Amino acid sequence: MTNSNAHSTKKPNLRVIPLGGLHEIGKNTCVFEYGDDLMLVDAGLAFPSDGMHGVNVVLPDTSYLRENQKRIRGMIVTHGHEDHIGGIPHHLKHFNIPIIYGPRLAMSMLRGKMEEAGVTDCTTIQTVGARDIVQVGQHFKVEFIRNTHSIADSFSLAITTPVGVVVFTGDFKFDHTPVDGETFDIQRMAHYGEQGVLCLFSDSTNAELPGFTPPERAVFPNLDRHIGAAEGRVILTTFASSTHRVAMILELAMKHGRKVGLLGRSMLNVIA
Ligand SMILES: [Zn+2]
Repeated sequence: MTNSNAHSTKKPNLRVIPLGGLHEIGKNTCVFEYGDDLMLVDAGLAFPSDGMHGVNVVLPDTSYLRENQKRIRGMIVTHGHEDHIGGIPHHLKHFNIPIIYGPRLAMSMLRGKMEEAGVTDCTTIQTVGARDIVQVGQHFKVEFIRNTHSIADSFSLAITTPVGVVVFTGDFKFDHTPVDGETFDIQRMAHYGEQGVLCLFSDSTNAELPGFTPPERAVFPNLDRHIGAAEGRVILTTFASSTHRVAMILELAMKHGRKVGLLGRSMLNVIA
């Protein structure tokens, strides 16, 4: 992306460098750069594929960030999925990120990961809410726009730069009946749309498939029926970060007079 006046006015260009996360599920990490300011959006990990024997996690190549770490002004986190925050504790051991802004759920999950990795003192964590605006460096102003996703407390971003506004959707689906009642702030998106957007970055799992993703609530009647009809124990599996799904299961357990036992390290970390 270039500023058309870049050569005549010698203004710096806005550079957007995805280090991972495009055309893959995992290691979402994006760099925004303008002048002397460098801002990161998310820093996830990927899980190894079948051929990667002995590999526990996969991280993007961050040599550019290590070389330019003096210019890193901060990081924005969109939501708490592992492929968006899982890389942060690793990166903090190798380069400096002065401040990390993100939603409450993601930041509390991140704190746990940072404690485990022994990097709690390496950065400052600041929790943000819907429509909060933060300044990162001199050149980036970021507004957090509530979106709907399979994890609660997820945001899209409107990033105001000296050359225009970039809308960065993060992972999302349009769920008009979200389990937690937090609807997509489409009005805010429309506001930026009317003002004019320099560039839209929109990438989410299965974004290239035609059709519509069913709302999370759609699984509720089926779960209700099966849990209601079951005579013995009911065993359910889901990603620990699928907080909406877990909330529905707890709601149904109450409805049907069931006791709930949680199994698994991530499940305990997120829910307990
Ligand atoms: Zn996600």
